[in-house]
Amino acid sequence: METWSRTVVLLLVITVTCSALINELPPGKEWPANNSVKQPFDDDPETTTILILSEKEPSNPIAEHLEVEGPEETIIDASLPVLRSTSPESRVDYTGAQIWKVSTQNTNVRGVIYRLRRRNLISTWGGNQSSIDILVKSNAVNNVTRVFKRERIPIEVVIEDLQQRINEENPPLDPNEVELQNRRGHRMTWKQYHRVEDIHGFMDYLAKTYPKIVSVNSIGKSYEGRDLKVLRISDGKPTNKAVFIDGGIHAREWISPATVTYFINQFAENFDVETDDIKNIDWYFLPVVNPDGYEHTHQSDRLWRKNKKPSRTTSRTCIGTDLNRNFGYRWGGKGSSGNPCSEIYRGSSAFSEPESKALSDFIKSSSANFTAYITYHSYGQYLLYPWGYDNAVPPDYKDLDELGNRMASAIRQTRGSSYQVGSSSGLLYPASGGSDDWAKGQGIRYSFTIELSDTGRYGFILPTSFIEPVARESLNGLRVLAAQVAKL
Ligand SMILES: [Zn+2]
Repeated sequence: METWSRTVVLLLVITVTCSALINELPPGKEWPANNSVKQPFDDDPETTTILILSEKEPSNPIAEHLEVEGPEETIIDASLPVLRSTSPESRVDYTGAQIWKVSTQNTNVRGVIYRLRRRNLISTWGGNQSSIDILVKSNAVNNVTRVFKRERIPIEVVIEDLQQRINEENPPLDPNEVELQNRRGHRMTWKQYHRVEDIHGFMDYLAKTYPKIVSVNSIGKSYEGRDLKVLRISDGKPTNKAVFIDGGIHAREWISPATVTYFINQFAENFDVETDDIKNIDWYFLPVVNPDGYEHTHQSDRLWRKNKKPSRTTSRTCIGTDLNRNFGYRWGGKGSSGNPCSEIYRGSSAFSEPESKALSDFIKSSSANFTAYITYHSYGQYLLYPWGYDNAVPPDYKDLDELGNRMASAIRQTRGSSYQVGSSSGLLYPASGGSDDWAKGQGIRYSFTIELSDTGRYGFILPTSFIEPVARESLNGLRVLAAQVAKL
């Protein structure tokens, strides 16, 4: 009996000590005491979602949402390419691989594409209302051509040799630029796609140069141990709202970190002359959510999408989880896969990945008044709001739609680029476990996924000459959001 009560006392002491430790961490650093996933809308009858009863079948799977797998996914061919070496010498070679635009007018297109993908002859890239972009593997071009001819499905070859495009995409800087780089104190330009080291060096440089308004913190580490660096721009007014912006969740979408760093540069370098809207917001930027994947796209496989943590099941090992299917709001639903070899693998549980966990822990534990969350992806030119998990919208979707349309019109007025606005499940296809759904579920009012340029001419392999114009028009869209947030 005595031993028993001593054990109870001991347990109590341990519990009290542990919670005391958690609570004594400095503000912004404290981490939630458990890993349970908060889904406020699930148990709050006041905020139930509005289900949209759609007549039309979601027949135009687009962009990343396209890779939807049916119930047969568990018997996917085990000969899928598994692991690529991480050594810089061995690069995945896309010589002879092609990008085709496939018309979706023909009713059997989806079935044909699904079967070809299961046979590992093609993969899917993106698309729009009338077509789907597919990557045809080099050794399958003849075979796939025959299939489409037989099925009478019209195609257009958009990229004849993918490797050639990859080789031309990110040329070295000219000597004058390199000279400038050396004098400036950081290596970042918007004339090239830069490595993580340059991006982080640029962030550190700004924190050092503008210590009164810029600070940098690592909010955690990636699977391979790289820092997840967040840069904050703030004049410290206690009335400021906060906006969180991230990029590079998907490794191959290079235009995303380039655009987010462009915003950082604009606000940090010109803070004194910036508008009050910009100054009345505490900005948090995480330009590379998935640094391991991003580095992998520079060194080994230009088209890598997921993170780099291996996933093991009883039958096979594959590398990487789709971080944008790993967030803990309605995790594990439609448009995600339980197969570790899938491009849309959701992970073994919500927030099983260090990158998504660090991001969500940071937002949850921060005392900043987050009013907007924007995550930049590519491609397709869409401005998307929740929900992604199913064909439903949040109760305040009209606000989101109205703001989204005003952002799109500011983007269009810059140089004519047209962005479509809508809920991600409605406009595209259901995809659960996305970061935008999770942010909205946390009560962050304005949550958007922005799919940057282009609409398929270059797809993920967008030449560097696009960086500046795409970032500039995106900044104009962001200014509209800032004005809305600042006036709340
Ligand atoms: Zn993406």
